[in-house]
Amino acid sequence: MEHVILVRYGEIALKGLNRNYFIDLLAKNIRNTLGCVPSAKVKKIQGRIIVNLEESDVELGMSRIQKVFGIVSVSHAVVIASDIDVIEENAIQRVREAKDIKTFKITAKRGDKTFPIKSPDLCARLGEKILAAVDGITVDLHHPDLNLWIEVREQTYMYHEFLPCNGGLPVGCSGKGALLLSGGIDSPVAGYMMAKRGVEVIAVYFHSFPFTSDRAKQKVVDLAKIMSQYCGKIKLYVVPFTEVQTKIVELCPDKQTTIIMRRYMMRIAETIAKNEGAKALITGESLGQVASQTMEGLGATNAVAELPVFRPLIGFDKSEIVKIAQDIGTFETSILPYEDCCTIFVPKHPETKPKISEMKRSEEVISEMMVGMMATAVENAEVIKL
Ligand code: ATP
Ligand code: MG
Repeated sequence: MEHVILVRYGEIALKGLNRNYFIDLLAKNIRNTLGCVPSAKVKKIQGRIIVNLEESDVELGMSRIQKVFGIVSVSHAVVIASDIDVIEENAIQRVREAKDIKTFKITAKRGDKTFPIKSPDLCARLGEKILAAVDGITVDLHHPDLNLWIEVREQTYMYHEFLPCNGGLPVGCSGKGALLLSGGIDSPVAGYMMAKRGVEVIAVYFHSFPFTSDRAKQKVVDLAKIMSQYCGKIKLYVVPFTEVQTKIVELCPDKQTTIIMRRYMMRIAETIAKNEGAKALITGESLGQVASQTMEGLGATNAVAELPVFRPLIGFDKSEIVKIAQDIGTFETSILPYEDCCTIFVPKHPETKPKISEMKRSEEVISEMMVGMMATAVENAEVIKL
């Protein structure tokens, strides 16, 4: 028997003239994620995408497709001929084989208007046939143990389960954004949330070797890899940050170092973003979460960026962010205890209400040397494709 995964898209269906562009992009993203499933063939049908594949590949295929943004639900269906005898026979068999069910319901949808039986009549007819053929079973239209869907099109799709997916828009339809990715809990979630709105994510990680170890870097690589299941391929820039960071710590007032360091991260990330054609920066900041994420702190960080800075977690509590991190599978990696460059030189009394004018003044002593150092950092960044 032929097996397919039926893919239902949500918001895309609302798009007007551009709808085909969104559907093609979604189909392409599904094809990419199914690279590891050789039997899979992706095609578009009216209002849906379907994936043909071998039965033994269904589980793997479903688990991959469920993570692709732009999809509201998927079902594993079998494909049968759009012939009433064949439909009856298969529906009876499916109910007969279902384990531990006492009640059932048929939901039939006639998409192909050349099929001679209308949807309500088809429901009634199949219900009767099943009642007559299967013992110990009744119809329950409201809370059936088994709701058997019969979708009659050129071919007929029969299934009984809807697996919910993450919704959103196909990655790539909203342009590219550069995520400042640390090894923490928040930034992978921030990247996930923007990818959900169709943003293709590239990632920038600031690495301060030897203050931050190779294992800390590996942790970020691992996080990007997990994210790529949702975001598609991710290009990760590992930026050597030691020189810049050391100069800041050496020459700037102690309580301002965190914000100044963040301002240089933004400047470097913006250069990389522009080289990559990215149109926004993304961070995992959340208002008030730490000393540098006050309104003034965020303002001082923002002030150096020309590109818009997206902070999708701005209004989230930590516990809400943790919940998403657990759901998407980044949490366990994020809490591995390797050092982050921001936590190494944390001042005892960080500035919580920095003034941009003061930041500028403090940066004067380093700004000239930083021009070259920032260029070197960008030039020597290691690029890892995940
Ligand atoms: P996270 O859990 O994402 O690390 P956090 O709560 O630890 O966030 P901070 O360490 O203050 O917060 O960092 C705020 C944001 O700055 C991060 O979400 C991330 O976007 C960016 N950032 C911090 N450190 C780095 C780094 N080493 N490389 C790249 N981006 C970083
Ligand atoms: Mg952090």
